[in-house]
Amino acid sequence: MYEGIRSPVIHAPKTLSEFAAIAWRYPQATIWAGGSYLMSQSEYYPSEIKDGIIDLGGMEELKKITRNDRFVEIGSMVTASQLLSAGKLVLPDILQETLRTLASQIVRRQVTIGGSLCVPDVRLSLSTTLAVLDAMAEIKYYQGGKVSTHWIPISKLYDREGKLLLGEQKALLTRIRIGLEYGDYQKIVTVEDPIRSTDECVIVAFQAKRSQNSLNKVQFCITFPSKAFHISKDLESKLSGMTLPIHPERVNTLSYELVTELTKMHSAISDLQLERGRRIFESFLHELNAKSLSQ
Ligand SMILES: Cc1cc2nc3c(=O)[nH]c(=O)nc-3n(C[C@H](O)[C@H](O)[C@H](O)COP(=O)(O)OP(=O)(O)OC[C@H]3O[C@@H](n4cnc5c(N)ncnc54)[C@H](O)[C@@H]3O)c2cc1C
Repeated sequence: MYEGIRSPVIHAPKTLSEFAAIAWRYPQATIWAGGSYLMSQSEYYPSEIKDGIIDLGGMEELKKITRNDRFVEIGSMVTASQLLSAGKLVLPDILQETLRTLASQIVRRQVTIGGSLCVPDVRLSLSTTLAVLDAMAEIKYYQGGKVSTHWIPISKLYDREGKLLLGEQKALLTRIRIGLEYGDYQKIVTVEDPIRSTDECVIVAFQAKRSQNSLNKVQFCITFPSKAFHISKDLESKLSGMTLPIHPERVNTLSYELVTELTKMHSAISDLQLERGRRIFESFLHELNAKSLSQ
């Protein structure tokens, strides 16, 4: 029955320089991190993947978590569960919440930070949260025997539909960097299961700083997993500097401004998703209002 099917060649680099040598010889090889996305693809295995698989599992330098007083750096092969247990005292609440609510414990043990950010076509909660935290990704490009390193904001790793924008060259995400200065109001909400009900799911992440009664440094990202990855610079700057509480009518008009923007830029989002996104956004502003009144 399996006659004629061959297992792909598996390359297992231990260091970045071994990875570079393999990338040079086998530029079409598929990078394999936790495998949770790759294994969900219909033709993942056994198949004759061109140039084979590069398994990152033996690369210890991609499994480190380090910190100083300004930022924390997380290797791309750190799993969601490792990060959750190692980062309890350091990571912002919104990231801890994102990791805690990511699927099940078994999946969290398999999913890596790099794999999660490099899924080519679907954006989920981790990309959404890291975008509002202004996190950066270190990307190494391998071309013509040369390696170049770039730090890219995670918010810029994707196009407006949420597709990964690493380009044609072989690229490896090696680590991410998260600054340790973040807003005191942070929120992530996911409605519907992003894997089973991808077409109805909405993910919204929001963070802001409050000083006295004014709102500062607002950042938010709304994701419709296989349809849109949206950061509104316009709404972020309108909200930054506003005085709390924001009048309920203004909350309402701001939420419809978000809908207008989303409709203009992303035709695939359903009415149900739009309404869900609008209500989640409104709920954040109402909560900020309530907190300002109870101070
Ligand atoms: C049931 C379930 C629920 C989930 N729920 C969520 C959720 O709510 N939120 C969320 O954020 N995620 C969620 N995920 C995880 C997400 O869907 C992906 O499965 C996962 O992030 C992929 O990580 P991985 O380490 O297994 O990567 P892999 O499957 O190994 O790779 C994914 C892709 O990234 C590429 N890649 C991997 N590492 C690198 C690297 N370092 N550099 C360059 N390219 C690389 C691979 O070539 C591949 O294209 C869920 C997964 C499952 C199975």
